[in-house]
Amino acid sequence: MIIPVRCFSCGKVIASDYKQFKEKISELSAGGKKPTPKMIVQTLDDLHVERYCCRRMILSHTDLIDEVLPFS
Ligand SMILES: [Zn+2]
Repeated sequence: MIIPVRCFSCGKVIASDYKQFKEKISELSAGGKKPTPKMIVQTLDDLHVERYCCRRMILSHTDLIDEVLPFS
């Protein structure tokens, strides 16, 4: 749905990191090339998202708000 503001496990603010992560990944995949796992890890390191609990929040999130909104 919408990215949670804080990590469920440790409480670190991750919502702002998610937006930057999405922008960087879309830049990396601009040429129609899929970003490699190394590129994704590097992007998360650059954003200082180091704990795996915070990484899973960002990596496992799916934006569904635009698909659900017409039904509300
Ligand atoms: Zn965390």
